[in-house]
Amino acid sequence: MTATLPRCDGWCRGANPITHIGSKGYVYCAECARERRWAGSESVRKMRAWELDRIARGHALNSYAPITREESDRRDQERAEATERP
Ligand SMILES: [Zn+2]
Repeated sequence: MTATLPRCDGWCRGANPITHIGSKGYVYCAECARERRWAGSESVRKMRAWELDRIARGHALNSYAPITREESDRRDQERAEATERP
């Protein structure tokens, strides 16, 4: 299966694979995340492997606020149920 990760929103213009998410909802590669942190304009955190995996599978991006895998799955489930309802 081909991974379809979104492109980095930083200065590299998507040249590097994404690894981080910022407090403003942008995604960054490791280099751009470091640059954002230095600039002091945005907080960034490294995404977990399972987060990158779920993004690659087409699920919504998790937010900057850290979330557990279980909570993330539960929200996906709720979203799916909400869509199924007439
Ligand atoms: Zn980048």
